Amino acid sequence: MEIYDDIVVGSGISGLTTALILGMNQRKVLLIEKAPKIGGSLSRFYKKGIPFDTGFHFSGGFSKDTVLLDMLSVLSIKDDIHPEFISKPENNRFLFENQKKSFMFSPGFDQNMKEMLSYFPNEEKAILAYFSKVKDVREKTTAMNIRSEVEMQKSLDEDFISLKNMLDSLTKDKTLKTLFGAFSMCHGTEPSQISFANHARVSYSIYESIARVKNGGHSFIKALIKKLKKYDVKIKTNTFISSCENIEKRRVGTFVLNNGESIKAENCIFTIHPEEILKTFKEENTSKAFADRVNSFEESFGLFLCFIKFSKKGHQPFDPAIITLYPDNDMNKFFDPEYKGDRPLVLVQNSEEVKKEKVSVINAFELTYWDEVKQWADSKTGKRSKDYEIYKQNKTNRICERIIKSFPEYKDCIEVIDSASMLTFRDYLNSPYGSAYGIKQKIGQFNLFGRIQYKNTFAAGQSAILPGVLGAMVSGFTICRYLLSKDVYAKFIKKELEE
Ligand SMILES: Cc1cc2nc3c(=O)[nH]c(=O)nc-3n(C[C@H](O)[C@H](O)[C@H](O)COP(=O)(O)OP(=O)(O)OC[C@H]3O[C@@H](n4cnc5c(N)ncnc54)[C@H](O)[C@@H]3O)c2cc1C
Repeated sequence: MEIYDDIVVGSGISGLTTALILGMNQRKVLLIEKAPKIGGSLSRFYKKGIPFDTGFHFSGGFSKDTVLLDMLSVLSIKDDIHPEFISKPENNRFLFENQKKSFMFSPGFDQNMKEMLSYFPNEEKAILAYFSKVKDVREKTTAMNIRSEVEMQKSLDEDFISLKNMLDSLTKDKTLKTLFGAFSMCHGTEPSQISFANHARVSYSIYESIARVKNGGHSFIKALIKKLKKYDVKIKTNTFISSCENIEKRRVGTFVLNNGESIKAENCIFTIHPEEILKTFKEENTSKAFADRVNSFEESFGLFLCFIKFSKKGHQPFDPAIITLYPDNDMNKFFDPEYKGDRPLVLVQNSEEVKKEKVSVINAFELTYWDEVKQWADSKTGKRSKDYEIYKQNKTNRICERIIKSFPEYKDCIEVIDSASMLTFRDYLNSPYGSAYGIKQKIGQFNLFGRIQYKNTFAAGQSAILPGVLGAMVSGFTICRYLLSKDVYAKFIKKELEE
């Protein structure tokens, strides 16, 4: 029987981060991944020779002195990750399709505030209050500082007020509220359900800067695999835990894998969806309270993606750009799961090198909910019904229509190479509903994080503290702090940051 200090389950950014930190601290680590390849949502795919991203298109947090840069330094992969900043305001744009209004923003928290003031001169009080509250939350969030000595994140007043209620208390201007709430697209929970604090935690780093990464998530996967090998972390793909056995004194004695192997480990850290974790525990050994808690979680929203090639004679390859199309200025309406009209559509433009030539691409993604595809939930990728193909084609056509309506000059220049629904993401990313961010970060909800069910089983990952690549990495650091002990972790962070 193989014996490890730690088993890490799931090889997305949270699992890779967790496994590497433990490996760097002389722990004997096994990383297991259900899919044939490691990387989870960081993966890219190639069609007609063009690389397209699945779950990592851009991130905040690459500007100076940020938690993301600290984390990359500690993992010693900072030199392998090359951000491509979105620096021109026209490349960070919000278009209100019905109102025919457009707003552009330069990088920088203070700069965003100044530009917002210039667009809404009569809303100075609301704008100053909003930005001051976002900054205040960020500064008080110790979990977003891996150097912090504080062990437990204290709840803030803003953890108990919803984004919607906060914005309603600041202004009546719907367009301004929609712009304040713009980065709801980066946490997947509607404004009436997410706390203002969690919205602020996600949005702050995006106000500071937005960047794509050269070669997308693959640059993370490549760099992290190299380091995992250096620290002898064992990786098994096509592997998952089929059951937890020999439970004594609330500790799992043996983790049984799908290939029948039995593994002993001091700790097992799950970085996967809570429903996937629950499947691993036998019903008779699982408390009803734990199962009820997992079953009560709601899923964050998903994204329908069109992967587009853009070609036009004489055109310059795209600089990285993010353009968000809002059908209307009522954010609460189009984040409502029951709403039937067009929803926000984000166009991430960039260019990729294909056979030494630059090819311009657009990843167009529209907010969507599971209800839209649940009728085909029993089908598998590559074997779906005609109805489903019609649904996909209709969605794709509507997305192209909206793009061309806002950018008539794109007519005859866009070629949809592929598209993906929540079912596609479910099947490729092994997440039960193919949502963008796992379970919702709902106000007052106690998501799975830290020790769960047994003394030696733990949860981290995107559903734990904060979603997105940055939030998922933070969850990996925070769980390792707990497992390694506060002092060992503090010494490790200090040493790696000084090197
Ligand atoms: C379409 C889309 C676009 C997105 N765009 C962005 C973006 O631009 N920027 C951003 O920051 N975030 C984005 N996100 C969110 C971001 O990708 C995630 O929050 C983050 O990558 C999650 O990382 P993770 O490691 O927690 O989970 P995942 O990346 O989902 O990794 C979990 C891994 O666990 C594996 N697994 C599942 N079950 C088991 C099991 N039982 N045993 C073993 N392995 C298992 C899965 O195969 C997977 O590899 C997007 C997500 C989607 C879906």
